[in-house]
Amino acid sequence: MEIEKNKAEAKAIVTSWKENGLSVGFVPTMGALHEGHLMLIRASQKENDKTVCSIFVNPLQFNRKEDLENYPNTMEQDLEMLENEGCDLVFVPNAEAFYDGVVIPTYDFGLLGKTMEALHRPGHFEGVAAVINEFFKTLLPTRAYFGEKDFQQLAIIKWLVAKENFPVNIVACKTVRAESGLALSSRNLRLSADGRQLAASIYETLHYCKNSKSNFSPTTLVTSAIDKLKNTFDVEYFEIVDGENFQQVDKWEESANPRAFVAAHLEGVRLIDNLSLNP
Ligand code: AMP
Repeated sequence: MEIEKNKAEAKAIVTSWKENGLSVGFVPTMGALHEGHLMLIRASQKENDKTVCSIFVNPLQFNRKEDLENYPNTMEQDLEMLENEGCDLVFVPNAEAFYDGVVIPTYDFGLLGKTMEALHRPGHFEGVAAVINEFFKTLLPTRAYFGEKDFQQLAIIKWLVAKENFPVNIVACKTVRAESGLALSSRNLRLSADGRQLAASIYETLHYCKNSKSNFSPTTLVTSAIDKLKNTFDVEYFEIVDGENFQQVDKWEESANPRAFVAAHLEGVRLIDNLSLNP
């Protein structure tokens, strides 16, 4: 496994692979790797000759300084995990060098840029789009792998690829969960053992919405979901929106693909999750 800090060097490695007719899968991460990330690596390995993983805590996508400063860092362990998985290249750029000379693009994401994560984390998706734009320009992978855990981010990436005409295939991968249902997340490392147990009620609540869909309107479900969560969590939002156009769903007939989304804080940790409400 090669480990590369330098953008030009990483580009040269991937370019030489592609010149030799090899397909390249790319898995961008912010490190503190867990089974969710490894599932993306494995999906890439199945479909490509070479797999590149990046570990880069992108400062541009953090709207709160403390969040960036507290972001877990387990680099040594991450590299060991990637080596064990048989990853071919790990790109670990330094933020200053990575963005040196880069003009940060400005985008109008439409509704995607005005709802849920976009509203609650101003500048977040602009930062995500900036880093992915630069990654794709640098590495031009054949395919790139993203988790449905960050469903709105996935939609932003698809939007970006269409907008910039990147010849990159975006592959969406299902959310990997702990046995309790809690979506795996690097941020879970900052929860206490009790907190991790309590956090499982996020998934239970999403599931409750899925199971109760035939009995209640979306609006009623949102109210009862917030009621269920509010004693344990500081709920930032709970919404049911269409999984394609991200319009709020007020009546089930309005959406063929309703999806529940939640952001909630526990023990000072911001947790997000989402679930399709279709059977
Ligand atoms: P992050 O390191 O949190 O920026 O995540 C890197 C990639 O891994 C993103 O595409 C995430 O959506 C994905 N990811 C994170 N957690 C999970 C999970 N539990 N299941 C599936 N994908 C995940």
